Parts: sequence; C-alpha cells; structure tokens
Amino acid sequence: MSARETQSVDRAARLPDAPALVLGAREAVIVAPSGEVETLTLAHAARKVGSDPYLYCYGTAVRRKLGLKRLPGYDALELFAFTRPADFILPTPLGLAHAMGLVGSTEPHGPPEDTALLIVRATHRLLEDLTRLDGRPREVARRIAATMARAGWSWGPSVLAALGAEPPDQEAPSAYLAGYDVWNRLSEWDEEPPAPPPGDASVTALEAGQRLVQLVGTDAERREAQVHYAEEAAKAFAPRDRAGVPNIVLAEAGTGVGKTLGYIAPASVWTEKNQGTVWLSTYTKNLQRQIDQELDKLYSAPETKAAHVVIRKGRENYLCLLNLEEEVARGGLLPERAIGIGLVARWAGASRDGDMVGGDFPSWLLGSLGGLHLMDVTDRRGECIYSACPHFRKCFIERAVRKSRGAEIVIANHALVMINAALRAEDGELPTRYVFDEGHHLFEAADNAFSAHLSGYETAELRRWIRGPESNRGRSANRVRGLEKRVGDLLGDEDTLQTALTHVISAASALPGDGWHSRIASGAPMGPAERFLAASRVHVLARADKERDGYSLEASAEELPAMLLSAATALQQALTEIAKPLQVLAKGLTQKLDKQAATMESATRIRIEGVVRGLTYRADNMLQAWIGMLGGLNMGAPEKMVDWFSMDRIDGRELDVGLHRHWIDPTEPFAETVLDQAHGAVITSATLRDQTRDQDGNLSEDWRSAEMRTGALHLPKPPERFSLVSPFDYAEKTRVFVVTDVKRTDPDQVASAYRELFRASHGGGLGLFTAVSRLKAVHSRIAAPLEDDGISLYAQHIDPMDTGTLVDIFRAERDSCLLGTDAVRDGVDVPGHALRLIVFDRIPWPRPTILHRARRSAFGSRSYDDMITRLRLKQAFGRLVRSRNDYGVFVMLDSMAPSRLMNAFPPGVSVERMGLKDVIERTRDFLGKWRES
Ligand code: SF4
Repeated sequence: MSARETQSVDRAARLPDAPALVLGAREAVIVAPSGEVETLTLAHAARKVGSDPYLYCYGTAVRRKLGLKRLPGYDALELFAFTRPADFILPTPLGLAHAMGLVGSTEPHGPPEDTALLIVRATHRLLEDLTRLDGRPREVARRIAATMARAGWSWGPSVLAALGAEPPDQEAPSAYLAGYDVWNRLSEWDEEPPAPPPGDASVTALEAGQRLVQLVGTDAERREAQVHYAEEAAKAFAPRDRAGVPNIVLAEAGTGVGKTLGYIAPASVWTEKNQGTVWLSTYTKNLQRQIDQELDKLYSAPETKAAHVVIRKGRENYLCLLNLEEEVARGGLLPERAIGIGLVARWAGASRDGDMVGGDFPSWLLGSLGGLHLMDVTDRRGECIYSACPHFRKCFIERAVRKSRGAEIVIANHALVMINAALRAEDGELPTRYVFDEGHHLFEAADNAFSAHLSGYETAELRRWIRGPESNRGRSANRVRGLEKRVGDLLGDEDTLQTALTHVISAASALPGDGWHSRIASGAPMGPAERFLAASRVHVLARADKERDGYSLEASAEELPAMLLSAATALQQALTEIAKPLQVLAKGLTQKLDKQAATMESATRIRIEGVVRGLTYRADNMLQAWIGMLGGLNMGAPEKMVDWFSMDRIDGRELDVGLHRHWIDPTEPFAETVLDQAHGAVITSATLRDQTRDQDGNLSEDWRSAEMRTGALHLPKPPERFSLVSPFDYAEKTRVFVVTDVKRTDPDQVASAYRELFRASHGGGLGLFTAVSRLKAVHSRIAAPLEDDGISLYAQHIDPMDTGTLVDIFRAERDSCLLGTDAVRDGVDVPGHALRLIVFDRIPWPRPTILHRARRSAFGSRSYDDMITRLRLKQAFGRLVRSRNDYGVFVMLDSMAPSRLMNAFPPGVSVERMGLKDVIERTRDFLGKWRES
C-alpha cells in the first residue's frame, strides 16, 4: 500500500456535480445543481443521458427504459448498497428516500422535480453516513472503495472523500484486493456433537392453548378460532403408533384466523418437551419471512431467537466464499467486474446468513454487477469441495446446515424438504415433525421435486461437473472445478478408483460441450447426447401443431421416429458408461470411510461424505432416471408417469430441448418419501378444499380435493381434518363482478378496461394475466395515461426486478398498480389499502399441456379443470382482504366465465354480471364508500 493511499484527508460529504434525472412513462425531468428544471421526451433524454453523467436511482431500470446499452453517471442505489450493505430498500426514488428517513413509508409520488431533489438529499445523507464511519469498518470500506475507484466507479472519489482518503494512484500495483477478502473477516462456526434423538412426549390441547395465550399476549382479545386451531394442530405432535403411519392434520383456516401462531404454539411446546426440531415449511420466500417475524413473539431476545431458529434454503441460494475469492482473483481489478464484486464483498461482510435469493442480498443489485451472475458466486453447480475448501469453517452454507441440526425451529421451503428427504434419508438426520404452510402448493412443489429432465442444459451441466473447464473462452472457464480437481487427492494410489476417475472423465465427452445450442439448432450435433437432442428438436418441430407466439413447444413421446429411438439407444449406452465409474468411485470412497474409521481426520470424513453424496446423486438418481427414460421410449411411459419432449423458447429464442418425465400424481412420491417417514405433520392453508354445489344448489366442501392435493390420500391412516372460517365479513367488504361486454381477444378493449378500472380505484389495483404477451400488450397501452393521473404502474416481465421486490413496491406505494402472472397471483400478501382491486384478464384455466392432459384423464376430466381453476380463483380472491379493515373488488374481464366456477368465492358474496361501464361505476362507488368510512 503506498503512502498516498493511506494518507488521511479532511472528511467531507461532497456530492458530484451532476444533474439529477427522474423518468416517467412519457417524459424525463432533469434538475440541474443550480435548481433549473428541464422536461424532455424520453427519446431526447436517451440522447443526453447516454453521453453525460447524471445522478439517478436504479440505473438498470433507467437504462432499460431509455433503451441504452450503457449508462454513465451516478446510481444512488449503488451508493446505498455500498454504504448500508444488507439493509432493506425498495429500488425506487421513494424507496430510497424512505430508507434514508426523508419521507414516510406510504408517501405518495410528488412532482418529478421533487423526486429528483429527494434523490439528491438521500445521496448526500449516505455520504454523511460514511463520514461518521470509524475504526475497522472505515478501514474496510476505504480499501474496498479504493479498489472500486481504481476500476472507475463513479462514486469512488466522493466515497473516498467522505471516508477521508485520497483517490488511489492508478499506477500503483494491485494492492487493494485485500479489501475484498471478506472471508478473512467472518467468524468461524463451531462444530457441535450430534444431537440425541428427540423425546416422544405429546402436546396436550391445554398446553397448546396456553402457549398461544403467551404468544398473543394475555391482554389480547381471545380468538376462539385461533385457540381451536392450536388445540387441533397439537394432534400432529402425538407420538406415532406404527412405523410408516404418521399423524397428519389437515387444517384449513380462512384468512384472519391466525394460523401461523396457531401452529407455532404446539410446535414450540413439542420442541421444548422433547428437545427436537420442528421444520416449518412454506412455498414462498415471503411467507418464510413472515414466519420468521412471527417467531419474535416466541423468543424474548433476538440473541435467543438467533440461537434457536434458522432459515434454511437449498445450497444454491447461498454465497460460496470460494467462488467469490476466485471471482476476486480473476476480475477484482477488471473495470467491468471490480465494481460489482466490491458491492458483493460489502454485502457479504454485513449479511445475516449469506442468502442471496430472498435473504438480505438486494436482488435489484444483480443488474449493477457488471455481468457478474448469481451462478458465479453461489454453489449452483454442486462443485463444493467441503473440508478441502479453505473457507469451509466460515462457509455460510455449512453454518446454516449445522445450525439447523441443533435448532428448535427450522423455517424451510417445500422444495428443500422434499429434496432433503429424498437424498438424505439414510443419514438418519431427517426431521420427524413438520408443518407445511401454504399446503395448497404441495402438489406443485412435489411435481418439481420428483420429476426428471433429460435436456441440453442438464446434460451439459453434468459434463461440466465431471470434466471442469474445457476452454478458455467464457467467464467461468477458470472457476469451474472438474471432478479430478475435487476428488483426485482423496483416491490415494488405489488403481481401481484412479481408473474409474479416468473412465468417467473420458465417458463424459459423450455429453454436450461448449456450443451445443448452435450445433443442435443447425443440425450438426457432436456425440450421442447432442445427436439425441437434435433428433428431439426435429421431433418437437414435427409434432407441435402451431408456433405458439414464440413460446415453448412440446410433443408427445408416442410412436417415435426410428431416428430418435436409435439416438436414444446410443445415448442410453453412453450414460451407462458414465454411471458405472461414478458408482465405483462412490463405493470406493464409502469403503475408505469404513476402513479408515479409526484414523481418518474428521475434516476428511466430512469431505468424503459430501463427495459421495454428489457422486451417488448423479449416478443413482439423475443418470438412472435418464437411462430409464431412454430405455422405455419405445414402450411408452411407465404406469403413473407421463413422458414428453419439449423445446423451451422465449420470444422465439431457443433455450433448451429435451425429454421430461413427471409423475401423474406427484403427491405419491411425496407421501412415500416425506410423510411416511415423519411422525407427524400439520398441512395447512386458507385454501385446501374445493367448493362445489350439488344438484339442489347446496354448497359442499370437498375434503377429498384437499387429500388428493396434499398426499394424505396415499397414507394408511386417514388424516385429522378441520376447517375454520375467516372472521371477515366478505359479503359486506367485497364485490365480485364479471364484465360481459369486453371482447377478450381485442387488446385495445382489454387495455381500456384495465385503465378505467385502475382509475376508478385510484390505483391499488392488481392486474392478473394468463399470458405474458397479453400483459405486455396492456402495459404498453396504459402505463402513460395512468401516470398522467398520478398512478404508477409496475409490471412483472417488464420492470427489471424480481417478483418479491415488485410486490414490496406495490405494498409500499399505496396508489400504484401492478401487473403480473401466476407468481404474482400466488405471492402477493398486501394487507391494508394498497390492494383494493383485482382484475383478471381471463379465467385462469390450467394450461393445456401434455402433462395436464394425463392428469385430467386420471383425476376426473372437466371436474379436475374446474377444481384447479376454482382453487386459483379462491386463492386470488383471498389476497383482497388480509386484515379486519381491508375491503376490495374482484373483477373478471372474461364474459365466458362459467357460473360453476363462481363457487370459489366465500358464501354470501354474490357475483354480478354486467357491462364495463356499470362495473366501473360500482367499483368507484364501493371503494369510495369504504375509503371514506
Ligand atoms: S465449503 Fe463449499 S460452498 Fe462453502 S465456501 Fe467452500 S466451496 Fe463454497
């Protein structure tokens, strides 16, 4: 480090001398440092902004809106990410202003020039924050900022001035990377002895009820339904009478019953009495976050909670420190990479748990990382080297895994629970008690977990996993570690194992290599896997009956052409040649564990166990599934399964091609793998049961649909079941309208309907679409006119943010509107008035795929379609009223909506069919009445 670099200078929060820029749907506003305001068209702004530096908020969104490839200037969000790493913020000017304490959380949008000034004030405050940093935090920030400044970070000089340091000498040697070595600053986790098995004491209804009272507070109004819920849920914590016969409780609880605390109560009593762990599993990250917040009521101090509760996700969600170190070594001083890596290093030093997907890593930052992808710094490819890794004892993933072994409560997700149960059953470390919240998603989660995909992407990943880097092209070439590098030193001088390693590396050349996409598309495949994929592509194009607007295509696996069958046979043989040596390696290493049990270091044991898991998964699960699929192609899929070919495309661009196999009823493997080995589980949701009407018009609740969708149908002992209705008065607080005179195939008419409905509600509208193309068509027509009325419009597939962030913005900006598809429909939890109108463009029927056709014929044809659709409508309607003071309107723009689907809505809520004009008036009146009340 040169003397110049360490030299202290006066610390000052000096803003760069750049005009502030704010974009609207039609216009841009620029506020000069002198205060002069200029309004110009977006096209004009694009020309100006592309050449001069401006101050703005969220460069990715600004760049995309202006159609620019690069955007010089100062992104206030980058400064935020540097100054307050791992702090939550919404990536909008108002979100920034709120995070900096300049406006309230629900401040409406003011004129754009005011917004521009808010950005200026917020950035000034951030720089002031930096001037107050001292000691080690200041030194770490200074070092990282110096590296980023040297790479050309626009904020570099201002940040260094605020930290009291000179700008770095551009000519100095690369001494600055020391600031990026976050792994050296993290604490190590402690290895704990294995926990003894939990006890078998049951939880009485009285104990569950008393715990609930403690959780909600003795002063709180007693909610009988919630107490009943806790008492009934306690039955899942009774000891099991027979192996393979778990105690399952199906609990449907309408919104407002308070089911989260309802199940936390018996779960926490059970952990206390038995020193065991309960896994609370959800489908969405949003609910994982909510459960975590609710657990604050169980633990008096944050440290106690931190010691007993862990949020678990799949390994691929966490930062891999070794990958980060390699990124730093390779790109830390490259201008296009160093800034992004610096921001990730800042975040990693402050993160609670290293979770990059839905944790405290700001997902909006991904667009600012200069081409750094999550794939580059997480362990997505399964290349962990466990205890051979120099950062093993600081690894975020290993820390979370260890913590969950001794935790009282693990907050997980359905996918992780299923994969864990499928792959780790033999470890004897599986939990015995579960709560599955969002139980209506178990079918879907099981469908993903227990399916097999033999595609270009998957097979190319396997080749990379085995052979490592094969060319110097591409960013990841140096980073990827092949099998030889990961396991070579563990094999010692055992010839059998060394030979197996050589064989598998050679056999993997049958899998797709770099450039497979273009070779397959151009009909020039290389090797058995590419030949099979190329033949699959030809087959899909031959059988798919239409172009489907550039989206994915699929074709059945019936009566396949000879060319495809012979390519399948060749690939089957090639895959067998890969599987065999992998099995030899797994077996040989397992024997080593046994033979050297007395002398092997525990670090080596942990490493070998990890390696064996990876080898076994690929040899016995992945490859055997593929070999089975290929071998049976000429005979049709096995009973209970369905096979098909697909070509994945987005906007006509081909992404992947391959063969798929799914269970017709995926809850069968779920029941066998997860529920059968558990002692007890609560499966709960607000929408477990379908509602149908009998011939006399009486409404009947259908428990069979709940049992079918959750796997309970496959268990030897019938589940306990109970249902509690919501305390909310839906008949009074909600309205449901079906619009009868909008032509659903006319995008102009559909867009006009959305626009006028959103105006009638003064924002607070959620537009749900069954196709992305229709969402985009509506967005392009209504964004500008809504903005003229002061209503901001956000949209999935258009705004460069993940769904969770979009919903967070929608929740925070009370008068904004949001457009989205399925993920938004299922992931929205917006209590209060920010959501007061839901508009569906069409009935959300299941997509008519080959898989759906098989399920439809297995589960009851039209009644199956109706059930799925009613449950979707029920789920969407449930978003409207989340708390006692909420109200809202639900509008269906599809005049073809059959009456039998309208049973989805709660009893007492009438469905009215009328023209758009009347719906708009009624919506305005109804919402206006409640707004004033
Ligand atoms: S132990 Fe594995 S996941 Fe963790 S930092 Fe090392 S290589 Fe990455």
